[in-house]
Amino acid sequence: MYIDSHTHFDIVMDWHHSDENTVIKNLKDHEIIHSVQVAIDTETSQWSYDFAKRNRDAGVLFTLGIHPSSYAGKKELTLLTDMVSRVMKTDPDIFFGIGECGLDYFRMKQQKSMQIEGFSTQIVLAKQYDLPLIIHIRDAFTDALELLKPRSPVWGIMHCFPGDRHAAQKALDLGFYISFAGNLTYKNAHILHDTAKYVPMDHILLETDAPFLSPIPLRGKKNKPEYVIHTYEYIAALKGTTCEKVKEKVYENFSRIKNRGKG
Ligand SMILES: [Zn+2]
Repeated sequence: MYIDSHTHFDIVMDWHHSDENTVIKNLKDHEIIHSVQVAIDTETSQWSYDFAKRNRDAGVLFTLGIHPSSYAGKKELTLLTDMVSRVMKTDPDIFFGIGECGLDYFRMKQQKSMQIEGFSTQIVLAKQYDLPLIIHIRDAFTDALELLKPRSPVWGIMHCFPGDRHAAQKALDLGFYISFAGNLTYKNAHILHDTAKYVPMDHILLETDAPFLSPIPLRGKKNKPEYVIHTYEYIAALKGTTCEKVKEKVYENFSRIKNRGKG
């Protein structure tokens, strides 16, 4: 049994010209017992909630959040806050956490000030309900830590982790799990290989971030949740363990987060 802890079914269906029945059937056919539909703005937050409600029997969970590349004005942040409050009352069992949120200074699609304001609001929101944050950081690790640290204890997942072992340790110290995506399998990703060897097995999650970042041997193709299997196999070899052991540990880690058990 596998878990894809970060995926975008809405974009997967769009890119693959696929439908909901097909993507859900693929999960079952490939023993994906849990997947997390990740929102990137208020519109996809609502969609993610509806999608997870329809597919809860297939182990689909969802997040609510605003990505650093999405517009996060006062209206959007208020809407998000209201949604979180509502969902915590109606469907806390399939609600996975707040995100994806964070800072992206590489794409810089929104002004720095808006990214910081949006991220800060979502950190406070997660704290209020003791929910995990699903964090996206690109070229902004120091600033992200500066926003997180004073609000400690905070916790959650560093999604598609891009950093070295020193950065990973800082994230672990703060109470975060490290999630690796398909780019871990790329031959030239030496730093990431070292990071994955370094992070203890009880703080690792695996994800596709589908339809992006397909793992080897499917690099260059559009990604799907079931391709997460390749990342499981890769990290097992990297850490000198078996795929069975990786499945077991990732399942334990994921269950702990799902049950709000933290690190
Ligand atoms: Zn994502």
